[in-house]
Amino acid sequence: MAMVILISALTATHLKAQDNFVFWPDADYDPAIPTVKDVLGYKAGERITWHSDAVRYFEALAKAAPERVSVAKYAESWEGRELIYVVVSSAENMARIDDIKTGMQRLADPRKTSRAEANDIISDQPAVTWLSYGVHGNEISSTEAAMLTAYHLLASRGDQRVADIMRDTVVVIDPMQNPDGRDRFIHHFETAEGLVPDSDRISAEHNEPWPGGRTNHYLFDLNRDWFIMTQPETRGRVEILQEWYPVAFVDAHEMGSDSTYYFAPQAIPFNPYLAGDQLASLALFGKNNARWFDSFGLDYFTREIFDAFYPGYGASWPSYFGSIGMTYEQASSRGLVVRQYDGNDLSYAYTIRNHFVTSLSTAEITAANREKFLTDFYNYHSSAIEDGSKDSIKSYILPKQADQAAVNKLTGLLVQQGVEVGRANSSFDACGSSYAAGTFVINTAQPSKRFIRTLMDVNVPMEESFLAEQERRRAKNLRDEIYDVTAWSLPLMMNVKVDTCYRPVNEKFTAAGPELIQPGTVSEGAGSVAYLVPWGSAPAVRLLVNAMRKGLAVKSSDLAFTHNGNRYPAGTLILDAADNPDNLPEIMTDLAHSTGADTTSVDNSWVTDGPNFGSQNVVRFNQPKVAIVWDEPTLSYSAGNTRFIIERQFDLPVTAIRARQLINSDLSRYQVLILPQSGYRQGYADVLGKKGTANLKDWVAKGGVLIGLGNANRYLADPNIDLQSIRRENAVVETGNEKSSGTSSKNENKPMEATVKGSNLADASAYRDSITPEKDKPDSVAGVLVKSDVDPDHWLGAGVAPTLNVLVRGTDIYTPIKMNKGVNVAAFRGADDLLASGYIWEQNRKQLAYKPFVVAQRSGKGYVIGFTQDPNVRAYLDGLNIIFMNAILRGSAHARPVR
Ligand SMILES: [Zn+2]
Repeated sequence: MAMVILISALTATHLKAQDNFVFWPDADYDPAIPTVKDVLGYKAGERITWHSDAVRYFEALAKAAPERVSVAKYAESWEGRELIYVVVSSAENMARIDDIKTGMQRLADPRKTSRAEANDIISDQPAVTWLSYGVHGNEISSTEAAMLTAYHLLASRGDQRVADIMRDTVVVIDPMQNPDGRDRFIHHFETAEGLVPDSDRISAEHNEPWPGGRTNHYLFDLNRDWFIMTQPETRGRVEILQEWYPVAFVDAHEMGSDSTYYFAPQAIPFNPYLAGDQLASLALFGKNNARWFDSFGLDYFTREIFDAFYPGYGASWPSYFGSIGMTYEQASSRGLVVRQYDGNDLSYAYTIRNHFVTSLSTAEITAANREKFLTDFYNYHSSAIEDGSKDSIKSYILPKQADQAAVNKLTGLLVQQGVEVGRANSSFDACGSSYAAGTFVINTAQPSKRFIRTLMDVNVPMEESFLAEQERRRAKNLRDEIYDVTAWSLPLMMNVKVDTCYRPVNEKFTAAGPELIQPGTVSEGAGSVAYLVPWGSAPAVRLLVNAMRKGLAVKSSDLAFTHNGNRYPAGTLILDAADNPDNLPEIMTDLAHSTGADTTSVDNSWVTDGPNFGSQNVVRFNQPKVAIVWDEPTLSYSAGNTRFIIERQFDLPVTAIRARQLINSDLSRYQVLILPQSGYRQGYADVLGKKGTANLKDWVAKGGVLIGLGNANRYLADPNIDLQSIRRENAVVETGNEKSSGTSSKNENKPMEATVKGSNLADASAYRDSITPEKDKPDSVAGVLVKSDVDPDHWLGAGVAPTLNVLVRGTDIYTPIKMNKGVNVAAFRGADDLLASGYIWEQNRKQLAYKPFVVAQRSGKGYVIGFTQDPNVRAYLDGLNIIFMNAILRGSAHARPVR
């Protein structure tokens, strides 16, 4: 694009502002170090830099000053873009950079490093400052700030602050944590550009088309993914951070365009497992940022929002490794210039400058407090071990269980994040129970203790005062300040049984490895008659999908059965030798190995209890062609994360179809269609209209399986659509006052009265009632884990754990389906036993009781299946995988289209 012409065509004042824009007053730069303009042809702030150009710039810096800067790759995005980090420090430090890393690794484990040794390391070691930019791809300014920060550190002459930073710290810059999202944003921005940059927010260049640049390729919010590591970008970061162990970690973001700048200290609630000195140090960084902002005359705020309670943020995860984690947020220009509410034009250069200033300010504070931060870092880990030996929970025991694959994945995830997990070499007794060999044990007296408790505990409590304040706000109809989910317990989300023990378990252990999948085995006979694969674990699903993709004939029993003395759960796969190629034994061995599924080969078909292999209760699979609705009106996270689970965790290709295509297209090629959650602007009814709905109904009647996730059920259950017989509920009318539910109070046929009946407001409570609006919908829940019981008689529940933990968010609650219309395959528990983890409003807890989570309804030759809460959020509710994949795979096997 002719960027030079574009720039010269800016309005005169704007041009002047850009031309004279001073990123750092009085800087004296060495001309031997290339500027952004030298390498890319424009000055910082004049263009939004593409991923490949940013990489090119850092490589140019490394070429110009190889003794002070290095560039390394740490991951590759789904779309093939390199993720890099840039290390900047003095030549002396760079010459011994490996020793510096080793020093940090030694400080991170006080069991191996005595205090005296630690003091030696601390006296001799620079501290690492980690600056991470652009995890949200449409938060653009920080990547430019990354380039300026590196340039400033390398090119400044005669600046004592820079000399201090280069001597006392190693600055690691991650310039772009989400390159796919960033380039997606730039592509749309440049496509919409005209003669001059437009500051009007309704202009096309400020309106990102679906899905926007925030997320990565599979539309994940990478700033929620840290502890669950589903995405390659996150996995790479988790690995390098455990190599470098920064003492300070900044995640630089952007926020709404009308705001100013936000930095530490963060908002409450604090995670109770963080150390006090970490919180105290936040103020050091905040105060220094404030000092610089005062000298530049810039506005900022702290503390009001952006807590670090949830451990999956960039600003929280490093805190569990002894770092001081921080979020910085700049008001976004979402382009080259944006008009703010007061009429001010906020330029891109201005936003870049602010992140640049706080980046240097952060490194300055690390340098000034080098010794303190390194000592705090060591103390963090030694106090973690100490606490772990004093806590009431001293070990977590993961006994052998039906879904052992889930246990393997959970322990693999923890090991990848530096947790030491032991696998018992023989059986043992502990805390009143007996455990088999192979049981996993996590003792808490280790450096990762705080991280372990945060992820493994059933509940991480929020401060009472914070919760009281939220209830006070809710009573006043003010928005609550809970920023994200209040529950994330890994064992609950993965449906893994864990025992806690008040004493450490010291048996003979083998250290568990980082693998998420253990190769499966084939046991028993020669397989002359069939292979059996017990249902109910992720590996079995992967095996089924891969077997179908290889063209194998697979069937499955809807009921449990006993064969040769072994009990097989409902859903167990049966691969008959007679229906499959002669080399089935080799294929099955390969499949068991690659998918992790344990399989049994049998030499007779005699079943002693339950259906035989030729029973009516045994269904044959046909590899379904699966489609997911894409683009408006879907919620991009729901669409992308669902597609990720099906494609990348279960190997089944998914066709993404833009919603508008559903109005007229022939869908007969597809057996399954998934409606993800819808977004905020419009719903499915708005986009599909009558014609699209008729098309969907016709397709279901002919044998399609339609699956609605979360609020997509508002559409399916809409009385005017009636694809499904459940209905969405309003808030419950509270007895004893005159509040009533939304719909019943809308007396639309009655003419409006000019006056109303008079009343005396006798007390404050009557006054409060008089100003409380009628409540349409239940209050929105930020995110809690709720128990749901599964009906084992329905094929959708085949192989599924009897109780599931469901993440409940938002306002959607539906009526149960009547027995003559369909089956409530999974329903929430009664109010007193509902909550598994997190904080839920009292009214929601009562109203959710016994309401459906999964509903299946036969419709013509097909099915409509509703999940009233999205089972695929962040791809981290592994415990819901089987019932969701049942809907796809068993749903299409049970539908009866003409074939
Ligand atoms: Zn952000």
